[in-house]
Amino acid sequence: MEKLSSHFTEEEARCKCGCGRIVVDDVLVRLLESIRAAAGHRPVTVRSWNRCVQYNKEVGGSPDSQHLYGKAADISVKGVDPDQLADFAASCGADGIGIYHTQGFVHVDVRGYRVRWREK
Ligand SMILES: [Zn+2]
Ligand SMILES: [Zn+2]
Repeated sequence: MEKLSSHFTEEEARCKCGCGRIVVDDVLVRLLESIRAAAGHRPVTVRSWNRCVQYNKEVGGSPDSQHLYGKAADISVKGVDPDQLADFAASCGADGIGIYHTQGFVHVDVRGYRVRWREK
């Protein structure tokens, strides 16, 4: 299994539909490592990272989703509330942060400008 960094692998980054799509954005990889450290060095579960156009449609992603460019990841950390995880992400310099409290994950991305949202 190819490693992208100390704690993240290519396998985690690939599109979950099985198409094998992977675009690695080093800024995002560094962000994920920072968040992992901020969360007390606990394992970060990646729910969604790269997405091909087809899969992005299937999961209801926006047409210009940062997941299409490998610049976004939906993550959770066991035992860490999504609100708290979002705070860690903000302190680590994430650009886009979306809190999906009911589903228990936080979207983080490195789009280059600040965006915040919360699932209704
Ligand atoms: Zn795919
Ligand atoms: Zn996302």
